[in-house]
Amino acid sequence: MKKIKVGILGATGMVGQQYLQRLKEHPWFEISFLASSETSAGKKYKDAVENRWYQKEPLDNELGKLSIHSIEDIESCHKNCHFVFSALPTNAAKIYEEKYASAEIPEISNASYHRASIDVPVLLPEVNAKHLELIHYQQKRRGWKKGFIVVKPNCSLQSYVIPLEALRKQFPLKKILVTTLQAISGAGYPGISALDIHDNIIPFIQGEEEKSEQEPLKIWGTLERDKILPSNDIQLSVHCNRVPVMDGHMACVSVEFAHKPSSEAIIEAWQNFRGEPQKLDLPEAPSQPIVYKQEINRPQTRLDRMEGNGMAITVGRLRECPIFHYRFVGLSHNTIRGAAGGGILNAELIYKQGYIY
Ligand code: NAP
Repeated sequence: MKKIKVGILGATGMVGQQYLQRLKEHPWFEISFLASSETSAGKKYKDAVENRWYQKEPLDNELGKLSIHSIEDIESCHKNCHFVFSALPTNAAKIYEEKYASAEIPEISNASYHRASIDVPVLLPEVNAKHLELIHYQQKRRGWKKGFIVVKPNCSLQSYVIPLEALRKQFPLKKILVTTLQAISGAGYPGISALDIHDNIIPFIQGEEEKSEQEPLKIWGTLERDKILPSNDIQLSVHCNRVPVMDGHMACVSVEFAHKPSSEAIIEAWQNFRGEPQKLDLPEAPSQPIVYKQEINRPQTRLDRMEGNGMAITVGRLRECPIFHYRFVGLSHNTIRGAAGGGILNAELIYKQGYIY
């Protein structure tokens, strides 16, 4: 199979590096364009990330030799790529994402800037693959032919939205209370000062609670021709905390259903859950998207974040709640499922559905 050429915007950052690592042996996609800020533009990739390569495995030799383009070099991107992943910070996403899409380059973004845009799907492939139909309306509305923007959700929410999705159709959700414990890597590099996070928990992440409450309701929303109507039958309250672990976002969840199911039925629904990525056997999809841990003290961040090559959600500690119906703990890897791995899974689904050509 001839591989599809892809670009990475913000290639030198925390998420950009993860994209390079996970795409280097991808069966369908091949990296052919890298762009970053003017600090890195013009350098070989290996020189630009010298002293700030955060990945466990060494940088691939061939990828290290690629030159980094200026983010302004949209023309080269257009010549070299079928689509791009954006790992830009919000301020740069605001300027460049529409410029790339209007140059007819499809874009799968990790940035938050477009998540609230009325015609942009926030894609969590196991949950709302159907929302991709919005791409046609986005293109029509904005006068784009091949270009479009699809975003992936905030990294905080995969650990609770996917386990809740597995229950939602059988057991409609009424009220959800979530407390997240989020890793330092979620703040990018250099991120939070060691003096602030060492021996500490910070009960505030700028803008995170708003995203963690609003984005799930859009993901669970109904597609009505040219827009998504957010779900209005679920009440959701989220507390977000930064904790001193490197990778892995945990969520402690209490949930009330329209009718209380048995705990056996919940565990069975988690174990049997398969979404569109599993049905299509997409390369980045974990075969078991939700892994239920029987042990009383799991999931644990260090032990379980790499389940399913970093793409599975581990859940555990399902028990009755004296206020709501049940409580449980969910865990997902924030820079894999919550960032680059999740972005690649989105791209695979979008490509398979024929929106990239
Ligand atoms: P990061 O480590 O700060 O990296 C930012 C990247 O963007 C670098 O490659 C940087 O290039 C480039 N950049 C910065 N300003 C730019 C500009 N004006 N024009 C072009 N390129 C520019 O951030 P990150 O953690 O990788 O996050 C990237 C995006 O993903 C953010 O929107 C973030 O919110 C989102 N996200 C992050 C996570 C996570 O777990 N970290 C999870 C989900 C989503 P230089 O190296 O040249 O400066």
